[in-house]
Amino acid sequence: MPDGLIVRVPAKINLHLEVVGRRSDGYHELRTLFQSVDLRDTLWGWPAEEGRLDLEIEPEGSVGSGSDNLIVRAARALWREIGRRPGARLKLEKRIPVGGGMGGGSADAAGALILLDRLWSLDLLPSDLCRLAAELGSDVPFFLHGGLGFGVGRGEEVLPLDDLPPFGVLLLVPPVEVSTAEVFSRLQPGPWKRQDDRVYAGITDGTPAIEWSAAFNDLERVVCEGWPLVGEALECVKRLGPVFSTVSGSGATVFGVFDSVDMAAQAAVGLEGQWRIEVVRMLGRTGARPEVVLENRRECGNN
Ligand code: ATP
Repeated sequence: MPDGLIVRVPAKINLHLEVVGRRSDGYHELRTLFQSVDLRDTLWGWPAEEGRLDLEIEPEGSVGSGSDNLIVRAARALWREIGRRPGARLKLEKRIPVGGGMGGGSADAAGALILLDRLWSLDLLPSDLCRLAAELGSDVPFFLHGGLGFGVGRGEEVLPLDDLPPFGVLLLVPPVEVSTAEVFSRLQPGPWKRQDDRVYAGITDGTPAIEWSAAFNDLERVVCEGWPLVGEALECVKRLGPVFSTVSGSGATVFGVFDSVDMAAQAAVGLEGQWRIEVVRMLGRTGARPEVVLENRRECGNN
């Protein structure tokens, strides 16, 4: 068996998400703060005969492995880009909640682009990978680098920001999948409120700080009304005294930010059994960047 490669891609939460308008192409215009957290999907890849793409997923059935899977779509996008069809056998270990607003599918797509670029020795330019990522989905470009990023447009234009301190994050995952398209379709069609820059003040002047009292997620109300379990989970987190809490993206995951991982773990005591719970830390860019390593764990360097 030839050497295989592994990439581990962290999930994101949205520390702030403003819907600032509706565009002529039907998408909503966003301003958001993406933050990587230490909850990862793992993707393995081995070379295979030309034209062949096999994808195995663990746990089986957690997400479909057919042509709609973003990993398969990423592989096919690379085929179109290079005009050849090198093969791959792929295996995904899924830990990021599906339909959880943590960008799991987008993370996998970014991981697949990075891993297959290496597996097939394509050496594509970062700008080409970024263009392919944006074609696969609005959130995919963020996952090529991770850390803290300011996303505008549909979220696909990302400005990397300085790392925040390693806050702890308590994630509560209600047992529902929320469709992002459904959430946006339930949003009031304006009038759009004036943009509020207070949350970004500490960021744009070069200080890695967020004005938590000014942070919010414009999708929170729609998600909590439409999916009551999400509202219940958010009420539960708010009672634990976090620095900040809201839904991630369009839900279903809700999160609370705490000053440290220990404090987040302490807050989680007693919640076990009610919800899927994860205590994670925010990742700086160095820790978040999806790094390709050889399957035998020998370092392969940064991509
Ligand atoms: P979004 O990025 O839209 O906020 P999300 O984080 O809420 O998405 P995902 O887990 O990315 O949720 O799943 C969104 C949809 O993408 C699901 O309906 C799922 O079927 C589809 N999908 C395609 N490929 C994948 C994948 N590799 N992992 C997870 N979902 C995938």
